[in-house]
Amino acid sequence: MKRRTYLPFYVPDIGEEEVEAVREVLLSGWITTGPVTESFERKITELVGAKFALAVNSCTAGLHLALLALGVGPGDEVIIPSFTFAATANVVLHVGAKPVFADIKEDSLTLDPKDVERKITKRTKVIIPVHFAGFPADMDDLLGIKVKKGIFIVEDAAHALGSVYEGIPIGSIGDITVFSFHAVKNLTTAEGGMITTDNPVLNERMRVLSLHGLTRDAWLRYRANGASSYQVIRAGYKYNMPDVLAAIGLAQLRKFKANQRKRKILARRYLEGLKGIPGLKLPPVPRDPLMVHAWHLFVIRITEGTEISRDEFVSQLSEFRIGTSIHFQPLHLEPLYRKTLGTKEDSLPVTEKVGKEVVSLPFYPRLSEEDQDYVMESIKKILIGVKV
Ligand SMILES: *Cc1c(COP(=O)(O)O)cnc(C)c1O
Repeated sequence: MKRRTYLPFYVPDIGEEEVEAVREVLLSGWITTGPVTESFERKITELVGAKFALAVNSCTAGLHLALLALGVGPGDEVIIPSFTFAATANVVLHVGAKPVFADIKEDSLTLDPKDVERKITKRTKVIIPVHFAGFPADMDDLLGIKVKKGIFIVEDAAHALGSVYEGIPIGSIGDITVFSFHAVKNLTTAEGGMITTDNPVLNERMRVLSLHGLTRDAWLRYRANGASSYQVIRAGYKYNMPDVLAAIGLAQLRKFKANQRKRKILARRYLEGLKGIPGLKLPPVPRDPLMVHAWHLFVIRITEGTEISRDEFVSQLSEFRIGTSIHFQPLHLEPLYRKTLGTKEDSLPVTEKVGKEVVSLPFYPRLSEEDQDYVMESIKKILIGVKV
């Protein structure tokens, strides 16, 4: 039986806790960046084990600030995967530097350190690994390259709040790490991001740039005897996170552990239930017990062993009223980068192959086991003709 209502690809876990937290801030008399944002920042430093955290209004803004703080600009190159969201590449263009795309590894779908080494030139200033779907990238290998060549590592951790690499939480490994709290990420503030670092100089630079280039947080000026003045020292940006959104973040943090546990259980159910289907490739599971997968996404691959293409599979799932998403279309084949960077087909073989195979299934703490079973039965019906 096909369901009549549509099963969405994603539903955020927003409940009365978030509504109450927002209500409190809205009626408090202070709704933009202030004490609630500060407290959210502190909680994130505790969660990821970083010295500093700076809340911003998106991960994209955070990545932009990271590159600015590291002094990346015209003439510099930044190595990134092509298998990522547009933001990872766009911020490199924003600072006037050149994105250089490296391939990913077939197993983890994260940056291939060997290809990164091949792409390094004298102009390489930063490497931006993406912890795809929450699976940690090969940080040891990338840090090894960094040590040899004096290159900075900025982690695009949009999928990786809660990920742990060899016992160390993502957020305290690279020079700078940036998380996303966009509506579909595993912790949300509707829109938002968080930058973490252990480096006080970088932290201070990013903080100044995040709020108009002023030397002091605006909210200090409004405190009881806050007659203190400020100086404008940079042409900064308007990237701060308001207290209203930080309140959502704090409420989300209180149930983060429980939600991550639910994700793990749902991932196990998918891994078990979709085992052994010809041509369906399941996502990698870390073998190292010191590695934690944040399971932000559950991405399967429709490979050559099947009779139908990925696109056909997606449209058939949609006939079963099941929402899906594609993470990601290879960036180097998008018109913008072809035009500005001259990138072409047949340059990143794994990315190009995988880009045609990936499908992200409905996957979120509020997904019921019944709905998940329906997804799995529908997939079997499509791929091996099993009656539902
Ligand atoms: C979502 C996402 C971003 C952008 O996050 P925003 O908070 O929407 O700016 C960047 N990189 C990756 C890999 C993402 O998935």
